[in-house]
Amino acid sequence: MTDVIIIGAGPAGLAAAIYVERSGKEALLLEAGSFGGQIINTPEIENYPGIKKISGFDFAMSLYEQATGLGAKIIYEKADGIEDKGELKTVHTESGNFYDAKAVIIATGAKNRHLMLDKEEEFTGKGISYCATCDGAFFKGKEVAVNGGGNTAIEDALFLSNYCSKVYIIHRREEFRGESSSLEMLKNKENVTFVLNSNIIKILGEDRLTGIRVKNNKTEEEKDIDISGLFIAIGQEPDNKGFKNVADINEAGYVIATEELKTKTPGIFTAGDCRIKEVRQLATAVSDGAVAGLKACQYIK
Ligand code: NAP
Repeated sequence: MTDVIIIGAGPAGLAAAIYVERSGKEALLLEAGSFGGQIINTPEIENYPGIKKISGFDFAMSLYEQATGLGAKIIYEKADGIEDKGELKTVHTESGNFYDAKAVIIATGAKNRHLMLDKEEEFTGKGISYCATCDGAFFKGKEVAVNGGGNTAIEDALFLSNYCSKVYIIHRREEFRGESSSLEMLKNKENVTFVLNSNIIKILGEDRLTGIRVKNNKTEEEKDIDISGLFIAIGQEPDNKGFKNVADINEAGYVIATEELKTKTPGIFTAGDCRIKEVRQLATAVSDGAVAGLKACQYIK
């Protein structure tokens, strides 16, 4: 039995743990993968107020050390359900274990979206990657492509342009979602080629990726591009299916919450990218964690 169970040890979950522990309550984090969430894959963070520049890994490590240093515990199991028993909440995990708490914070984040193309799964680790920071160095001096038009794609392409001989950035529209300052930096890179209004329609290669076929969605023209690496950065999807009984979930799978991050069940809160929100940034994830952590402690009192 603990005070607050936090499902997910990304920036939102770790920030919540810091606020819970500093309020004199116990926090138990349940994490399905490794701590840090998506930010651990971000090469450079340059928009977190108060820190000019830091790698995603260093930021995540620092958050982790701060939370665990304050006393937060972490168990690496995937939570797949919450039972609301009034003053007691039981969180079930895929391993068949269950943990009791007075309050729960759902901070599950979101996972990488896939293109759903033939060979995408087969070639993951054989030329296809969802993490430029993790795998970029394997493609030193090679030609690669990044797919997507958000901040992740732009930052990945910038990062890869420092290692690779050529980087194609393939985006299905002309306008980018990502920050204009980073986009300008990318446009100034001599080894970056923009392939806009285009979708990847086929993954090429026998035993590993050797290229992609792209189709211009305006002219319908198709062309093959030879590359050794493809970095897919087309956004994320939440995974909150297991929590439908305790929280309202929208059609896209995001948790619906109030301004105070309360779900429909008293004592169950949410934080970070897994909930409906306009701006999904590191700063807003951490901000959510602070609110949810404090609100959970207030609820217990
Ligand atoms: P995102 O902002 O959702 O962008 C996803 C991109 O992929 C969009 O350009 C989208 O195209 C495209 N896309 C989606 N589905 C596609 C498909 N099936 N085929 C082809 N293209 C597809 O995702 P993100 O870049 O991973 O960023 C997620 C959140 O984290 C954002 O809020 C972002 O600002 C934030 N982030 C922040 C930082 C930072 O603070 N430094 C770093 C990375 C990410 P459309 O534009 O046409 O929809």
